[in-house]
Amino acid sequence: MSERFDLLVIGGGSGGLAHAQRAAEYGANAAVVEHGPLGGTCVNVGCVPKKIMWYAAHYAHQLHHATDYGYDVAARGGHDWAALKVRRDAYVKRLNDIYAGNLDKRGVTYVAGNARFLDAHTVDVDGRQYRADRIVIATGGHPIVPNIEGAELGITSDGFFELNELPKRVIIAGSGYIAVELAGIFHGLGSETHMVVRRDGVLRGFDEMLGRELNREIQESGITLATGVIPAAVRKEVGGLVLTAADGREFGPVDALVWAIGRAPNTATLDLGKAGVNTDERGFVITDDLQQTSVDNIQALGDVTGRAALTPVAIAAGRRLADRLYGGMDGRHLDYQLIPTVVFSHPTIGTVGMTEAEARSEYGDDIRIYTSSFTPMFYALGVDKKRSAMKLITAGPHERVVGIHLFGDGADEMLQGFAVAMRMGATKKDFDDTVAIHPTSAEEVVTMR
Ligand code: FAD
Ligand code: NDP
Repeated sequence: MSERFDLLVIGGGSGGLAHAQRAAEYGANAAVVEHGPLGGTCVNVGCVPKKIMWYAAHYAHQLHHATDYGYDVAARGGHDWAALKVRRDAYVKRLNDIYAGNLDKRGVTYVAGNARFLDAHTVDVDGRQYRADRIVIATGGHPIVPNIEGAELGITSDGFFELNELPKRVIIAGSGYIAVELAGIFHGLGSETHMVVRRDGVLRGFDEMLGRELNREIQESGITLATGVIPAAVRKEVGGLVLTAADGREFGPVDALVWAIGRAPNTATLDLGKAGVNTDERGFVITDDLQQTSVDNIQALGDVTGRAALTPVAIAAGRRLADRLYGGMDGRHLDYQLIPTVVFSHPTIGTVGMTEAEARSEYGDDIRIYTSSFTPMFYALGVDKKRSAMKLITAGPHERVVGIHLFGDGADEMLQGFAVAMRMGATKKDFDDTVAIHPTSAEEVVTMR
């Protein structure tokens, strides 16, 4: 005998939970299958514990500048990583419980276990069978490691959250979001931090100004950054781990090596073939604008679809899908354009819309670039000053703003409101006509000429 639902969601992460809960609010008899802790990547090994660690490193920066403001403070005894981890883990556990409570409140059935398809309407969860009119795949992804000798001696971002103490020396291999965020945290908390990237710098897919500024800041802060490093092998010596590059260069010894070279979808064990769901060559579930897969009654959303791997994107896709399928909002779907995103580096980066290169290829010479580079007032009283940089890109005769790129303290909190303006089609004149808020860094965004 199999249990039956209107909706079965595989994956209790950001997207899956959002979808199941919204569908249940519309009256669907829904269930969520999850084989790990509720909340998925973001809550357990992603955004949430990462931001806690970012705050910890940010604190170190603030302490560093406290004397500029007349304080006589020192972090006596240094930083207690283990104590922070206990508190962080307790917070995450509280969130797991809140998520379980939220499902309960909405009458969503929580099925603990590992799901795989038997056919397009039937899922096996550790030997139990569940049938559903509709199945939504929201299984997220996992970090990848290179296929080289000794790779298993390193850890990934998942392992980062298991560390019970701060490694004294660390190598981070990779150049994307996770690499720069973890490097900033390790460095801020006192590790001797080395980054190795396989090309010429970090954040290559971002606007060139953002990559340039962060590459500069990383090196000025004391993190070493080695370029052109193709990892070839890792070995363990008495002194620690040593990474060898394809060109023979060696890095280390260090106490920890972190792979931050991208993520792959969790689809390998789902038996998608039994349901007829198509994936691309990397295993991501292929979906159209409406989150529709190759099978009528099966949709997919979030990281497993390989599009804009961000929590609010998974949540928005999940809620809109429920609005459309159960809430009578015909055609409602997530528009993947103009997604604002923040990199929690030190300092932070906020970006939305086109890079300068993208704008040039779309509009040719019909674009204008506005830039600003300045030292925030916070650093006015000290000698160790950090720079901020901003870029505004406009296109067409009316100078519609098509890209905003912010680098510097507060960029993370600054971007959201500007993203609203951009979505509404704001022009440079709208920015110019907006009265500045003084003294802030954000005022630079509306005063660029
Ligand atoms: P997930 O949250 O990964 O959820 C998928 C769930 O499916 C998991 O719980 C998994 O256990 C479960 N599952 C998988 N297979 C099965 C199966 N066969 N049976 C049952 N259950 C299964 N995004 C941001 O917006 N801001 C950030 O600051 C940010 N920081 C990040 C930091 C790190 C270190 C990482 C790794 C990611 C970060 N992200 C951030 C990205 C964000 O975490 C993801 O985009 C988001 O979690 C995706 O949600 P999802 O629902 O698609 O997948
Ligand atoms: P990213 O895709 O951001 O970056 C990984 C980078 O590593 C690649 O761009 C590539 O850069 C480099 N790389 C790939 N393969 C190799 C290899 N074999 N050896 C060396 N370097 C390699 O992945 P992340 O893992 O950092 O993050 C995954 C996703 O999670 C992000 O894209 C983002 O969507 C999400 N995320 C969001 C965060 C946020 O919102 N703040 C924070 C963390 C994650 P190159 O080509 O330059 O070598």
